[in-house]
Amino acid sequence: MRIAIASGKGGAGKTTLTASLHQSWPRPHVMADTDVEAPNLHLFLHPVMERSIDVALSVPAAVNAACTSCGQCRDICHYGGIARFGNKITLFPDMCHGCGGCFVVCPEHALEEGRRALGTVELGHLADGTLYVSGATRIGEVMTPPLLRRLLAELDLATQGQDVDMLLDSPPGVSCPAITVARRVDAVLLVVDPTPFGLADFRIAFAAFSALHLPLAVVINRAHMPGNEGGEAAVADFCAGHGLPIVGVLPFSREAAHVLAQGEPLVATGSQWQTLFAALAQKILHVFGGAANV
Ligand code: SF4
Ligand code: SF4
Repeated sequence: MRIAIASGKGGAGKTTLTASLHQSWPRPHVMADTDVEAPNLHLFLHPVMERSIDVALSVPAAVNAACTSCGQCRDICHYGGIARFGNKITLFPDMCHGCGGCFVVCPEHALEEGRRALGTVELGHLADGTLYVSGATRIGEVMTPPLLRRLLAELDLATQGQDVDMLLDSPPGVSCPAITVARRVDAVLLVVDPTPFGLADFRIAFAAFSALHLPLAVVINRAHMPGNEGGEAAVADFCAGHGLPIVGVLPFSREAAHVLAQGEPLVATGSQWQTLFAALAQKILHVFGGAANV
């Protein structure tokens, strides 16, 4: 079973939850950090990376002398990657989405291909032997879905023929990166910050992920925070109204915050958290149990 651990916004706690789920998951599994714009699961799990793959996008990089300035390449590009000023064709490779349309329509084969670096995918292992895969965008690069697709393809390749679960720390929010990951999993676990802001983003996340017709479940993080009384009740009301199971409630804890700041998973804080996460893992498996492997 593949589970994306997602959230409506950054900072809800999905990475810290993912790290402790690894320690508590009762079945063989692999871990992946797909939050490629800000990968930080490694801060808690300390993988040793063994292989790095550079990922790039094929883009038009130059126009040769055969160009007649017909403008067909510009006309087909929906992303502003090509402009025509007078009789001169100008390329903007940073705007390109790599669709390849301009290469196909150019009657003179006047476009020369180049590569735009998107980032890297890395594979390695945790100290207990668990496979760990992560990705990171090149600084300044805004397009992440091709990098994520490569990451997920490498994950597939590395686990081919193995009966293992996959726990994926998902990109936050509901934009292209998060949806790219969610479209390739069996279920989505939504981590919710029970603040008014968190609830607003949770509603958006619910709308986006439920449109994918995936099994969803909720973990409420930082519950019972002083000054935020009633936050969990608002989330619970929303969940009850939409048939969303709440599989766990993690209390706000200064001790937990201190341990996380040291780069340790929550389960390192003691048996109370170990018990809590062991129960959470069982509940997730129970709720998502019917989800089929892809
Ligand atoms: S490959 Fe596609 S997106 Fe890129 S410049 Fe050509 S038409 Fe535009
Ligand atoms: S389609 Fe080819 S020939 Fe026409 S303007 Fe573009 S590069 Fe030049």
